[in-house]
Amino acid sequence: AVIEAQAQADTRFWANSDSPHGLGQEAKQALHAAKKSIAAHLNCRASELVLTSGATEANNLALTGVFEAEQYRKEPRKRILVSSIEHPSVLEVAEALQTRGALVEQIEVNATGRINLEDLRSKLSQDTLLVSVMAANNEVGTLQPIAEIAEICHQVGAFVHTDATQWLGRMPINVGQWGVDLLSASAHKLHGPKGVGLLFSRSGLPLAGQQHGGGHQGGKRSGTVDVPGALGFAQALQAASDEPDWSWVRNLRERLFEGLASRAAPVERISPTVECLPNTLNLRFKGVDSEALMASAPTICCSPGSACSHATPKPSHVLMAMGLDREAAGECLRFSLSQSTTAEEIDQAVELLAEAAGYVRSVMEEAA
Ligand code: PLP
Repeated sequence: AVIEAQAQADTRFWANSDSPHGLGQEAKQALHAAKKSIAAHLNCRASELVLTSGATEANNLALTGVFEAEQYRKEPRKRILVSSIEHPSVLEVAEALQTRGALVEQIEVNATGRINLEDLRSKLSQDTLLVSVMAANNEVGTLQPIAEIAEICHQVGAFVHTDATQWLGRMPINVGQWGVDLLSASAHKLHGPKGVGLLFSRSGLPLAGQQHGGGHQGGKRSGTVDVPGALGFAQALQAASDEPDWSWVRNLRERLFEGLASRAAPVERISPTVECLPNTLNLRFKGVDSEALMASAPTICCSPGSACSHATPKPSHVLMAMGLDREAAGECLRFSLSQSTTAEEIDQAVELLAEAAGYVRSVMEEAA
């Protein structure tokens, strides 16, 4: 359905949606319909959405745009709080803003990855400009109490941003009920096109656009809008909300866990058992290097708990924030299921991973 929506847009609505001619206006109408449809799923107005190239750009725009707009005030607030388990597209932006005078602090999480609300309260002040806490974590699946967090932050007048990239399309979102001022998401996490995302920014919120140019999207994001991408995103979101039942996926995830816990023991569950995304499972295969495990089961598409793009493997900051040490983080794998994952695939994954874990353990024992 997404491919069809995009193909139709590519052939019918290929004109620049900001051009005043007839074809441009048709594209503009199609874009508006797509934005309206996405907005209905978030319970916001179409005019509160800025389409971006993905959640990375949306997160950059949220933090930098709010910080920059604040600089026009007589006594700008300087403090930005981010949770310690944010995606790098939040953490690194906050870090970069320090060179422009921002005072950045991280909020602690507990062993399941939940925000420590006491730590949040103790770090909030009248100088806090913005608090960014992701709705659901991408590495372990932990969900955050966003409405409660927003209420606490609003008591000192701070704006609240949530990165809902992992939440959208899996569970309903109501920005009004959450009470957030900004929200980021990405189409490709729900089978939409890659390179398309959005930032919700509450009407009237001061936000300085980061792309300078033709003043598209109310000046918040200059650049010709990707109309086919927007239609694909709207279609993907519609399809996701037409299939709201994730209990089957949850059951498959438990089948994966139980299979691996018995066939590849000792295995430790890192993802929480409650307040967790329905499709995410992070496991530690004790004594098994995760990169070696992936290399021994190359047909299983999953992610390691450390990034080997560096000379020395860099352990996941999320797992470290949850209290794991480097060795434990290096033994973790994250699995993401979707509504198209089958029971046969799960059984096959258990088989292949159990065999691979046994092989890696035996090689490591020989080498020791
Ligand atoms: N935020 C979270 C929580 C993510 O999981 C991702 C992607 O993995 C991003 C942001 C970045 O999204 P994008 O690839 O659309 O830039």
